[in-house]
Amino acid sequence: MSDSALPLLRDVFGHAAFRGEQEAIVNRVTAGGDALVLMPTGGGKSLCYQLPALLRAGTAIVVSPLIALMQDQVDALRQLGVRATFLNSTLSSNDAMGVEQALLAGDLDLLYVAPERLLTPRFLALLDQAQVALFAIDEAHCVSQWGHDFRPEYRQLTVLHERWPQVPRIALTATADAPTQREIAERLQLQDARHFVSSFDRPNIRYAVEAKDGGPRQLMEVIDRHRGASGIVYCMSRRKVEATAEALREQGIDALPYHAGLAAEMRAEHQRRFLREDGVVMVATIAFGMGIDKPDVRFVAHMDLPKSMEGYYQETGRAGRDGDPSEAWLCFGMGDAALLQRMIENSDAPDERKRVEHRKLDALLGYCESTACRRQSLLAYFGEHYPQPCGNCDNCLSPAASIDGTEIARKALSCVYRTGQRFGAGHVIDVLRGSDNARVRQLGHDTLSTHGIGQDLDARQWRSVFRQLMAAGLLESDLDGHGSLRLGASSGPLLRGETTLSLRVDAPRKAARRERSNR
Ligand code: ADP
Ligand code: ZN
Repeated sequence: MSDSALPLLRDVFGHAAFRGEQEAIVNRVTAGGDALVLMPTGGGKSLCYQLPALLRAGTAIVVSPLIALMQDQVDALRQLGVRATFLNSTLSSNDAMGVEQALLAGDLDLLYVAPERLLTPRFLALLDQAQVALFAIDEAHCVSQWGHDFRPEYRQLTVLHERWPQVPRIALTATADAPTQREIAERLQLQDARHFVSSFDRPNIRYAVEAKDGGPRQLMEVIDRHRGASGIVYCMSRRKVEATAEALREQGIDALPYHAGLAAEMRAEHQRRFLREDGVVMVATIAFGMGIDKPDVRFVAHMDLPKSMEGYYQETGRAGRDGDPSEAWLCFGMGDAALLQRMIENSDAPDERKRVEHRKLDALLGYCESTACRRQSLLAYFGEHYPQPCGNCDNCLSPAASIDGTEIARKALSCVYRTGQRFGAGHVIDVLRGSDNARVRQLGHDTLSTHGIGQDLDARQWRSVFRQLMAAGLLESDLDGHGSLRLGASSGPLLRGETTLSLRVDAPRKAARRERSNR
Protein backbone atom coordinates (compact mmCIF):
# COMPACT_ATOMS: atom_id res chain seq x y z
CA MET A 1 0.00 0.00 0.00
CA SER A 2 2.66 2.47 1.03
CA ASP A 3 4.26 1.70 -2.34
CA SER A 4 1.84 4.13 -3.83
CA ALA A 5 1.38 6.34 -0.78
CA LEU A 6 4.98 7.46 -0.56
CA PRO A 7 5.25 8.76 -4.15
CA LEU A 8 2.00 10.66 -3.62
CA LEU A 9 3.32 12.12 -0.38
CA ARG A 10 6.34 13.38 -2.27
CA ASP A 11 4.84 14.38 -5.57
CA VAL A 12 1.58 15.88 -4.43
CA PHE A 13 2.31 17.14 -0.91
CA GLY A 14 6.01 17.73 -1.29
CA HIS A 15 7.04 15.97 1.93
CA ALA A 16 10.08 13.70 1.92
CA ALA A 17 8.87 11.20 4.52
CA PHE A 18 5.94 10.32 6.73
CA ARG A 19 5.85 11.67 10.21
CA GLY A 20 5.17 9.53 13.24
CA GLU A 21 2.21 7.27 12.68
CA GLN A 22 0.97 8.85 9.48
CA GLU A 23 2.03 5.94 7.33
CA ALA A 24 0.34 3.30 9.46
CA ILE A 25 -2.82 5.39 9.57
CA VAL A 26 -2.84 5.98 5.82
CA ASN A 27 -2.38 2.26 5.20
CA ARG A 28 -5.14 1.33 7.60
CA VAL A 29 -7.71 3.69 6.09
CA THR A 30 -6.69 3.05 2.50
CA ALA A 31 -7.22 -0.66 3.12
CA GLY A 32 -10.76 0.09 4.29
CA GLY A 33 -10.29 -0.03 8.07
CA ASP A 34 -11.56 2.46 10.64
CA ALA A 35 -9.16 4.60 12.65
CA LEU A 36 -9.28 6.89 15.66
CA VAL A 37 -6.38 9.30 15.51
CA LEU A 38 -5.16 11.30 18.49
CA MET A 39 -2.40 13.59 17.39
CA PRO A 40 -1.33 16.91 18.80
CA THR A 41 -2.07 20.10 16.95
CA GLY A 42 0.40 20.49 14.13
CA GLY A 43 1.17 16.77 14.14
CA GLY A 44 -0.07 16.29 10.60
CA LYS A 45 -3.55 14.90 10.91
CA SER A 46 -4.88 16.16 7.58
CA LEU A 47 -2.61 13.92 5.54
CA CYS A 48 -4.06 10.91 7.33
CA TYR A 49 -7.28 11.29 5.35
CA GLN A 50 -6.07 13.33 2.39
CA LEU A 51 -3.75 10.60 1.14
CA PRO A 52 -6.31 7.79 1.45
CA ALA A 53 -8.73 10.13 -0.31
CA LEU A 54 -6.41 10.08 -3.31
CA LEU A 55 -5.64 6.38 -3.05
CA ARG A 56 -9.22 5.13 -2.82
CA ALA A 57 -11.83 5.33 -5.54
CA GLY A 58 -14.53 7.95 -5.06
CA THR A 59 -14.80 11.11 -2.96
CA ALA A 60 -13.69 11.49 0.64
CA ILE A 61 -16.29 13.27 2.75
CA VAL A 62 -14.64 15.38 5.43
CA VAL A 63 -16.87 16.48 8.28
CA SER A 64 -15.56 19.62 9.89
CA PRO A 65 -17.24 22.06 12.26
CA LEU A 66 -14.96 24.89 11.21
CA ILE A 67 -16.74 26.52 8.32
CA ALA A 68 -14.39 29.49 8.46
CA LEU A 69 -11.40 27.27 7.76
CA MET A 70 -12.81 25.07 5.02
CA GLN A 71 -11.97 27.67 2.44
CA ASP A 72 -8.32 27.76 3.54
CA GLN A 73 -7.97 24.01 3.50
CA VAL A 74 -9.62 23.70 0.14
CA ASP A 75 -7.46 26.47 -1.33
CA ALA A 76 -4.32 24.75 -0.07
CA LEU A 77 -5.36 21.44 -1.61
CA ARG A 78 -6.27 23.00 -4.93
CA GLN A 79 -2.84 24.59 -5.13
CA LEU A 80 -1.43 21.09 -4.89
CA GLY A 81 -3.68 20.03 -7.76
CA VAL A 82 -6.10 18.07 -5.61
CA ARG A 83 -9.75 18.26 -6.60
CA ALA A 84 -11.25 19.54 -3.36
CA THR A 85 -14.19 21.73 -2.51
CA PHE A 86 -16.61 22.43 0.31
CA LEU A 87 -20.30 22.64 0.97
CA ASN A 88 -21.62 24.89 3.70
CA SER A 89 -24.01 27.70 4.39
CA THR A 90 -21.74 30.32 2.84
CA LEU A 91 -22.37 29.00 -0.68
CA SER A 92 -25.15 30.29 -2.88
CA SER A 93 -27.66 27.64 -3.85
CA ASN A 94 -26.33 27.78 -7.39
CA ASP A 95 -22.79 27.06 -6.25
CA ALA A 96 -24.06 24.33 -3.95
CA MET A 97 -25.80 22.69 -6.90
CA GLY A 98 -22.57 22.78 -8.84
CA VAL A 99 -20.76 21.03 -6.01
CA GLU A 100 -23.44 18.37 -5.81
CA GLN A 101 -23.15 17.70 -9.51
CA ALA A 102 -19.38 17.42 -9.28
CA LEU A 103 -19.80 14.91 -6.47
CA LEU A 104 -22.19 12.78 -8.48
CA ALA A 105 -19.98 12.97 -11.55
CA GLY A 106 -17.03 11.63 -9.55
CA ASP A 107 -15.05 14.82 -10.15
CA LEU A 108 -14.03 15.36 -6.53
CA ASP A 109 -11.27 13.86 -4.43
CA LEU A 110 -12.36 15.57 -1.23
CA LEU A 111 -15.53 17.30 -0.16
CA TYR A 112 -15.53 19.24 3.11
CA VAL A 113 -18.94 19.58 4.66
CA ALA A 114 -20.33 21.01 7.88
CA PRO A 115 -22.08 18.44 10.07
CA GLU A 116 -25.47 20.15 9.95
CA ARG A 117 -25.30 20.15 6.16
CA LEU A 118 -24.19 16.54 5.98
CA LEU A 119 -27.08 15.41 8.14
CA THR A 120 -29.81 16.88 5.95
CA PRO A 121 -31.96 14.20 4.27
CA ARG A 122 -31.14 15.81 0.95
CA PHE A 123 -27.39 15.42 1.37
CA LEU A 124 -27.64 11.90 2.75
CA ALA A 125 -29.72 10.91 -0.26
CA LEU A 126 -27.11 12.48 -2.50
CA LEU A 127 -24.42 10.37 -0.89
CA ASP A 128 -26.45 7.27 -1.73
CA GLN A 129 -25.85 8.05 -5.37
CA ALA A 130 -22.22 9.04 -5.04
CA GLN A 131 -19.15 6.89 -4.61
CA VAL A 132 -17.78 7.62 -1.16
CA ALA A 133 -14.10 6.81 -0.59
CA LEU A 134 -14.14 7.40 3.16
CA PHE A 135 -15.59 9.54 5.89
CA ALA A 136 -13.19 11.71 7.87
CA ILE A 137 -14.57 13.17 11.07
CA ASP A 138 -12.34 16.06 12.05
CA GLU A 139 -12.31 17.63 15.54
CA ALA A 140 -13.93 14.41 16.76
CA HIS A 141 -13.87 15.54 20.39
CA CYS A 142 -16.85 17.73 19.48
CA VAL A 143 -18.93 14.59 20.09
CA SER A 144 -18.07 14.71 23.79
CA GLN A 145 -20.48 16.50 25.99
CA TRP A 146 -17.75 17.03 28.57
CA GLY A 147 -15.35 18.61 26.13
CA HIS A 148 -15.18 22.31 25.53
CA ASP A 149 -16.45 22.21 21.97
CA PHE A 150 -19.52 20.03 22.25
CA ARG A 151 -21.59 19.98 19.03
CA PRO A 152 -24.86 18.10 19.34
CA GLU A 153 -24.91 17.25 15.61
CA TYR A 154 -21.78 15.17 16.06
CA ARG A 155 -23.87 12.68 18.03
CA GLN A 156 -25.89 11.97 14.90
CA LEU A 157 -22.88 11.07 12.80
CA THR A 158 -23.47 7.41 13.65
CA VAL A 159 -25.81 7.53 10.67
CA LEU A 160 -22.72 7.28 8.47
CA HIS A 161 -21.81 3.91 9.85
CA GLU A 162 -25.39 2.68 9.87
CA ARG A 163 -26.11 3.72 6.31
CA TRP A 164 -22.74 2.94 4.72
CA PRO A 165 -21.15 0.24 6.88
CA GLN A 166 -18.58 -0.67 4.23
CA VAL A 167 -17.11 2.86 3.95
CA PRO A 168 -14.08 3.35 6.23
CA ARG A 169 -14.20 6.11 8.81
CA ILE A 170 -11.35 8.02 10.36
CA ALA A 171 -11.99 10.24 13.38
CA LEU A 172 -9.34 12.78 14.31
CA THR A 173 -8.71 15.01 17.27
CA ALA A 174 -5.90 16.93 18.88
CA THR A 175 -7.42 16.93 22.27
CA ALA A 176 -8.55 13.91 24.17
CA ASP A 177 -7.80 12.52 27.55
CA ALA A 178 -8.51 8.85 28.06
CA PRO A 179 -12.20 9.23 29.01
CA THR A 180 -12.87 11.50 26.02
CA GLN A 181 -11.07 9.02 23.78
CA ARG A 182 -13.38 6.27 25.02
CA GLU A 183 -16.38 8.50 24.58
CA ILE A 184 -15.46 9.30 20.98
CA ALA A 185 -15.09 5.61 20.15
CA GLU A 186 -18.41 4.81 21.77
CA ARG A 187 -20.46 7.73 20.48
CA LEU A 188 -19.24 7.37 16.91
CA GLN A 189 -19.55 3.58 17.02
CA LEU A 190 -15.89 3.14 16.29
CA GLN A 191 -15.54 -0.13 18.16
CA ASP A 192 -13.57 -1.69 15.31
CA ALA A 193 -11.32 1.31 14.83
CA ARG A 194 -7.62 1.04 15.51
CA HIS A 195 -6.49 3.73 17.90
CA PHE A 196 -3.42 5.69 16.87
CA VAL A 197 -2.23 7.72 19.82
CA SER A 198 0.79 9.91 19.19
CA SER A 199 2.90 11.42 21.89
CA PHE A 200 1.53 14.78 22.90
CA ASP A 201 4.93 16.09 23.79
CA ARG A 202 5.97 19.28 22.07
CA PRO A 203 9.63 19.38 22.99
CA ASN A 204 10.35 22.79 21.45
CA ILE A 205 7.75 24.54 23.60
CA ARG A 206 9.04 25.93 26.87
CA TYR A 207 6.29 26.07 29.49
CA ALA A 208 6.20 28.69 32.19
CA VAL A 209 3.63 29.81 34.73
CA GLU A 210 3.81 33.04 36.70
CA ALA A 211 1.66 34.45 39.46
CA LYS A 212 -0.29 37.48 38.29
CA ASP A 213 1.45 40.60 39.47
CA GLY A 214 0.62 43.51 37.24
CA GLY A 215 -0.34 41.49 34.15
CA PRO A 216 0.45 43.90 31.28
CA ARG A 217 4.00 44.54 32.45
CA GLN A 218 4.57 40.80 32.81
CA LEU A 219 3.23 40.33 29.29
CA MET A 220 5.67 42.91 27.95
CA GLU A 221 8.52 40.87 29.40
CA VAL A 222 7.32 37.87 27.41
CA ILE A 223 6.96 39.88 24.22
CA ASP A 224 10.40 41.42 24.74
CA ARG A 225 11.85 37.93 24.67
CA HIS A 226 10.34 37.49 21.21
CA ARG A 227 10.55 40.97 19.71
CA GLY A 228 9.31 41.12 16.15
CA ALA A 229 7.91 37.59 16.23
CA SER A 230 4.32 36.46 15.85
CA GLY A 231 2.45 35.50 18.98
CA ILE A 232 -0.98 34.95 20.43
CA VAL A 233 -2.22 36.48 23.68
CA TYR A 234 -5.35 34.92 25.14
CA CYS A 235 -7.66 36.84 27.45
CA MET A 236 -10.87 35.68 29.05
CA SER A 237 -13.15 38.57 28.12
CA ARG A 238 -13.74 40.70 25.07
CA ARG A 239 -13.18 43.82 27.10
CA LYS A 240 -9.81 42.62 28.25
CA VAL A 241 -8.89 41.67 24.68
CA GLU A 242 -9.58 45.22 23.58
CA ALA A 243 -7.74 46.80 26.49
CA THR A 244 -4.71 44.55 26.15
CA ALA A 245 -4.42 45.04 22.40
CA GLU A 246 -4.65 48.80 22.96
CA ALA A 247 -1.98 48.72 25.66
CA LEU A 248 0.35 46.74 23.42
CA ARG A 249 -0.16 49.09 20.52
CA GLU A 250 0.79 51.96 22.78
CA GLN A 251 4.03 50.10 23.41
CA GLY A 252 4.66 49.95 19.68
CA ILE A 253 3.63 46.31 19.25
CA ASP A 254 1.68 45.39 16.12
CA ALA A 255 -1.19 43.95 18.16
CA LEU A 256 -4.66 43.17 16.81
CA PRO A 257 -7.80 42.24 18.74
CA TYR A 258 -9.93 39.22 17.87
CA HIS A 259 -13.16 38.14 19.53
CA ALA A 260 -16.65 37.08 18.57
CA GLY A 261 -18.02 40.58 19.19
CA LEU A 262 -16.07 42.13 16.32
CA ALA A 263 -17.59 42.43 12.86
CA ALA A 264 -16.93 39.39 10.70
CA GLU A 265 -14.94 41.42 8.15
CA MET A 266 -12.67 42.79 10.84
CA ARG A 267 -12.08 39.35 12.29
CA ALA A 268 -11.26 37.99 8.87
CA GLU A 269 -8.92 40.90 8.18
CA HIS A 270 -7.08 40.49 11.47
CA GLN A 271 -6.76 36.75 10.95
CA ARG A 272 -5.47 37.35 7.44
CA ARG A 273 -2.84 39.82 8.67
CA PHE A 274 -1.78 37.46 11.45
CA LEU A 275 -1.35 34.61 8.98
CA ARG A 276 0.38 36.51 6.19
CA GLU A 277 2.50 39.11 7.97
CA ASP A 278 5.43 38.77 10.30
CA GLY A 279 5.40 39.98 13.83
CA VAL A 280 1.68 40.41 14.40
CA VAL A 281 0.55 39.73 17.97
CA MET A 282 -3.04 38.52 18.04
CA VAL A 283 -4.84 39.38 21.26
CA ALA A 284 -7.87 37.15 21.38
CA THR A 285 -10.48 35.20 23.22
CA ILE A 286 -10.52 31.47 22.60
CA ALA A 287 -12.79 32.24 19.64
CA PHE A 288 -9.49 32.54 17.79
CA GLY A 289 -7.22 29.75 16.78
CA MET A 290 -9.02 26.51 16.08
CA GLY A 291 -7.44 25.11 12.96
CA ILE A 292 -5.03 28.03 12.54
CA ASP A 293 -1.94 26.68 10.84
CA LYS A 294 0.81 29.24 11.17
CA PRO A 295 4.16 27.56 11.63
CA ASP A 296 6.20 30.36 13.22
CA VAL A 297 4.10 31.46 16.19
CA ARG A 298 6.86 32.04 18.76
CA PHE A 299 4.78 32.48 21.88
CA VAL A 300 1.33 31.86 23.26
CA ALA A 301 0.57 33.89 26.37
CA HIS A 302 -2.43 33.36 28.61
CA MET A 303 -3.37 36.46 30.55
CA ASP A 304 -6.15 34.53 32.28
CA LEU A 305 -6.65 30.92 33.15
CA PRO A 306 -7.77 28.69 30.31
CA LYS A 307 -10.84 26.56 30.96
CA SER A 308 -9.11 23.23 31.30
CA MET A 309 -5.88 21.37 30.69
CA GLU A 310 -7.27 20.28 27.33
CA GLY A 311 -7.93 23.87 26.40
CA TYR A 312 -4.51 24.92 27.62
CA TYR A 313 -2.77 22.21 25.65
CA GLN A 314 -4.68 23.01 22.49
CA GLU A 315 -4.15 26.75 22.77
CA THR A 316 -0.43 26.51 23.58
CA GLY A 317 -0.08 23.93 20.80
CA ARG A 318 -0.40 26.76 18.29
CA ALA A 319 3.12 27.82 19.21
CA GLY A 320 6.16 26.46 17.42
CA ARG A 321 4.65 24.21 14.81
CA ASP A 322 7.82 24.64 12.78
CA GLY A 323 9.76 22.93 15.56
CA ASP A 324 11.79 26.01 16.54
CA PRO A 325 12.05 27.08 20.19
CA SER A 326 8.84 28.68 21.41
CA GLU A 327 7.24 29.69 24.64
CA ALA A 328 3.94 28.94 26.33
CA TRP A 329 3.45 31.40 29.14
CA LEU A 330 0.59 31.56 31.58
CA CYS A 331 -0.14 34.15 34.18
CA PHE A 332 -2.71 33.41 36.82
CA GLY A 333 -4.21 34.82 39.94
CA MET A 334 -6.52 33.45 42.53
CA GLY A 335 -9.26 35.81 41.41
CA ASP A 336 -9.34 33.99 38.04
CA ALA A 337 -9.85 30.69 39.75
CA ALA A 338 -12.69 32.04 41.88
CA LEU A 339 -14.32 33.62 38.83
CA LEU A 340 -14.15 30.41 36.82
CA GLN A 341 -15.54 28.49 39.75
CA ARG A 342 -18.47 30.87 39.94
CA MET A 343 -19.06 30.64 36.19
CA ILE A 344 -19.28 26.87 36.45
CA GLU A 345 -21.56 27.03 39.45
CA ASN A 346 -23.89 29.64 37.94
CA SER A 347 -24.21 27.89 34.59
CA ASP A 348 -27.32 25.97 33.64
CA ALA A 349 -25.39 22.73 33.28
CA PRO A 350 -26.58 19.65 35.14
CA ASP A 351 -24.80 18.84 38.40
CA GLU A 352 -22.86 15.98 36.91
CA ARG A 353 -21.35 18.25 34.31
CA LYS A 354 -20.55 20.90 36.91
CA ARG A 355 -18.65 18.33 38.91
CA VAL A 356 -16.64 17.39 35.84
CA GLU A 357 -15.87 21.03 35.14
CA HIS A 358 -14.81 21.65 38.72
CA ARG A 359 -12.47 18.67 38.49
CA LYS A 360 -11.01 19.96 35.26
CA LEU A 361 -10.43 23.36 36.78
CA ASP A 362 -8.82 21.81 39.84
CA ALA A 363 -6.45 19.88 37.59
CA LEU A 364 -5.47 23.11 35.92
CA LEU A 365 -4.91 24.90 39.22
CA GLY A 366 -2.83 21.98 40.39
CA TYR A 367 -0.72 22.31 37.26
CA CYS A 368 -0.20 26.02 37.87
CA GLU A 369 0.85 25.62 41.48
CA SER A 370 2.92 22.50 41.00
CA THR A 371 6.65 22.64 41.65
CA ALA A 372 7.18 19.59 39.42
CA CYS A 373 8.27 19.58 35.78
CA ARG A 374 5.47 21.20 33.76
CA ARG A 375 5.92 18.84 30.84
CA GLN A 376 5.66 15.82 33.07
CA SER A 377 2.51 17.22 34.67
CA LEU A 378 0.94 18.17 31.36
CA LEU A 379 1.63 14.84 29.70
CA ALA A 380 0.58 12.91 32.80
CA TYR A 381 -2.78 14.59 32.48
CA PHE A 382 -3.15 13.05 29.03
CA GLY A 383 -2.14 9.66 30.41
CA GLU A 384 1.40 9.85 29.07
CA HIS A 385 4.44 9.05 31.18
CA TYR A 386 7.42 11.31 30.55
CA PRO A 387 10.43 9.58 32.09
CA GLN A 388 12.48 12.45 33.49
CA PRO A 389 12.15 16.18 34.18
CA CYS A 390 12.33 17.91 30.81
CA GLY A 391 14.87 20.64 31.37
CA ASN A 392 12.80 23.01 29.26
CA CYS A 393 10.21 24.48 31.61
CA ASP A 394 10.32 27.09 34.36
CA ASN A 395 10.28 24.53 37.14
CA CYS A 396 13.15 22.57 35.59
CA LEU A 397 15.21 25.65 34.74
CA SER A 398 14.75 27.53 37.99
CA PRO A 399 13.34 25.15 40.53
CA ALA A 400 10.86 26.72 42.88
CA ALA A 401 12.02 26.55 46.42
CA SER A 402 9.58 24.64 48.57
CA ILE A 403 9.28 24.78 52.30
CA ASP A 404 7.34 23.03 55.03
CA GLY A 405 4.25 25.19 54.86
CA THR A 406 2.20 23.43 57.51
CA GLU A 407 2.39 26.25 60.02
CA ILE A 408 1.74 28.91 57.41
CA ALA A 409 -1.26 26.97 56.16
CA ARG A 410 -2.61 26.62 59.70
CA LYS A 411 -2.41 30.36 60.20
CA ALA A 412 -4.28 31.01 56.97
CA LEU A 413 -6.97 28.43 57.67
CA SER A 414 -7.50 29.64 61.24
CA CYS A 415 -7.85 33.19 60.04
CA VAL A 416 -10.40 32.19 57.41
CA TYR A 417 -12.28 30.36 60.14
CA ARG A 418 -12.07 33.14 62.75
CA THR A 419 -13.34 35.77 60.32
CA GLY A 420 -16.40 33.61 59.72
CA GLN A 421 -15.61 32.10 56.30
CA ARG A 422 -17.29 35.08 54.70
CA PHE A 423 -14.39 37.03 53.18
CA GLY A 424 -12.14 36.90 50.18
CA ALA A 425 -8.39 36.48 50.32
CA GLY A 426 -7.68 40.21 50.29
CA HIS A 427 -9.40 40.86 53.59
CA VAL A 428 -8.11 37.71 55.27
CA ILE A 429 -4.59 38.70 54.29
CA ASP A 430 -5.14 42.17 55.75
CA VAL A 431 -6.08 40.54 59.04
CA LEU A 432 -3.13 38.14 58.93
CA ARG A 433 -0.76 40.98 58.25
CA GLY A 434 -2.18 42.97 61.15
CA SER A 435 -3.67 45.77 59.11
CA ASP A 436 -5.78 48.27 61.00
CA ASN A 437 -7.59 49.65 57.99
CA ALA A 438 -11.16 50.87 58.37
CA ARG A 439 -12.77 47.65 57.28
CA VAL A 440 -10.72 45.53 59.63
CA ARG A 441 -11.58 47.81 62.54
CA GLN A 442 -15.23 48.13 61.59
CA LEU A 443 -15.62 44.37 61.61
CA GLY A 444 -13.71 44.08 64.86
CA HIS A 445 -11.19 41.81 63.18
CA ASP A 446 -8.31 43.67 64.81
CA THR A 447 -9.32 41.97 68.04
CA LEU A 448 -9.15 38.42 66.68
CA SER A 449 -6.42 36.06 67.91
CA THR A 450 -5.28 35.66 64.30
CA HIS A 451 -4.85 39.42 63.73
CA GLY A 452 -1.24 40.07 62.86
CA ILE A 453 0.02 36.48 63.12
CA GLY A 454 1.18 36.52 59.50
CA GLN A 455 3.59 39.44 59.35
CA ASP A 456 6.49 37.24 58.30
CA LEU A 457 5.08 37.06 54.76
CA ASP A 458 4.22 40.00 52.56
CA ALA A 459 0.82 40.32 50.89
CA ARG A 460 2.14 38.94 47.63
CA GLN A 461 3.50 35.83 49.24
CA TRP A 462 0.25 35.34 51.11
CA ARG A 463 -1.64 35.53 47.81
CA SER A 464 0.47 32.70 46.52
CA VAL A 465 -0.10 30.71 49.70
CA PHE A 466 -3.86 31.14 49.35
CA ARG A 467 -3.74 29.97 45.74
CA GLN A 468 -1.86 26.90 46.74
CA LEU A 469 -4.27 26.18 49.57
CA MET A 470 -7.11 26.39 47.07
CA ALA A 471 -5.32 24.18 44.61
CA ALA A 472 -4.74 21.65 47.38
CA GLY A 473 -8.43 21.70 48.34
CA LEU A 474 -7.67 23.08 51.81
CA LEU A 475 -9.67 26.17 51.00
CA GLU A 476 -12.66 26.48 48.77
CA SER A 477 -14.01 29.57 47.17
CA ASP A 478 -17.57 30.07 48.23
CA LEU A 479 -19.86 30.11 45.26
CA ASP A 480 -22.00 33.00 46.43
CA GLY A 481 -20.57 35.33 43.84
CA HIS A 482 -18.18 37.16 46.17
CA GLY A 483 -15.27 34.77 46.13
CA SER A 484 -15.35 34.39 49.89
CA LEU A 485 -13.26 31.56 51.23
CA ARG A 486 -14.26 28.66 53.42
CA LEU A 487 -12.42 25.64 54.74
CA GLY A 488 -12.17 22.78 52.28
CA ALA A 489 -12.85 19.15 53.02
CA SER A 490 -9.17 18.28 53.54
CA SER A 491 -8.48 21.09 55.98
CA GLY A 492 -9.45 19.06 59.08
CA PRO A 493 -6.46 16.70 59.08
CA LEU A 494 -4.04 19.60 58.58
CA LEU A 495 -5.53 21.68 61.38
CA ARG A 496 -5.43 18.65 63.68
CA GLY A 497 -1.76 18.13 62.86
CA GLU A 498 -2.34 14.81 61.07
CA THR A 499 -0.89 15.94 57.74
CA THR A 500 1.78 18.35 56.63
CA LEU A 501 1.99 20.52 53.55
CA SER A 502 4.86 21.72 51.46
CA LEU A 503 4.47 25.06 49.75
CA ARG A 504 6.40 26.74 47.02
CA VAL A 505 7.79 30.11 47.87
CA ASP A 506 8.25 32.69 45.16
CA ALA A 507 11.81 33.79 44.59
CA PRO A 508 12.30 36.73 46.96
CA ARG A 509 14.73 38.62 44.76
CA LYS A 510 12.26 38.81 41.92
CA ALA A 511 9.61 40.00 44.34
CA ALA A 512 11.88 42.74 45.63
CA ARG A 513 12.72 43.93 42.14
CA ARG A 514 9.04 44.07 41.27
CA GLU A 515 8.19 46.04 44.34
CA ARG A 516 10.83 48.55 43.57
CA SER A 517 9.70 48.96 39.98
CA ASN A 518 6.10 49.35 41.13
CA ARG A 519 6.90 52.46 43.11
P1 ADP B 1 -2.91 19.08 12.37
O1 ADP B 1 -4.18 19.01 11.56
O2 ADP B 1 -2.59 17.80 13.05
O3 ADP B 1 -2.88 20.24 13.31
P2 ADP B 1 -1.73 19.56 9.82
O4 ADP B 1 -2.31 18.40 9.10
O5 ADP B 1 -2.36 20.88 9.57
O6 ADP B 1 -1.73 19.29 11.38
O7 ADP B 1 -0.18 19.62 9.55
C1 ADP B 1 0.63 20.54 10.23
C2 ADP B 1 1.79 20.95 9.37
O8 ADP B 1 2.71 19.88 9.23
C3 ADP B 1 1.38 21.36 7.97
O9 ADP B 1 2.09 22.52 7.64
C4 ADP B 1 1.79 20.18 7.11
O10 ADP B 1 2.12 20.57 5.80
C5 ADP B 1 2.99 19.65 7.86
N1 ADP B 1 3.20 18.19 7.64
C6 ADP B 1 2.29 17.22 7.77
N2 ADP B 1 2.83 16.01 7.50
C7 ADP B 1 4.12 16.22 7.19
C8 ADP B 1 5.21 15.36 6.81
N3 ADP B 1 5.08 14.03 6.71
N4 ADP B 1 6.41 15.94 6.57
C9 ADP B 1 6.55 17.30 6.68
N5 ADP B 1 5.57 18.15 7.01
C10 ADP B 1 4.35 17.62 7.28
ZN1 ZN C 1 10.38 20.45 32.90
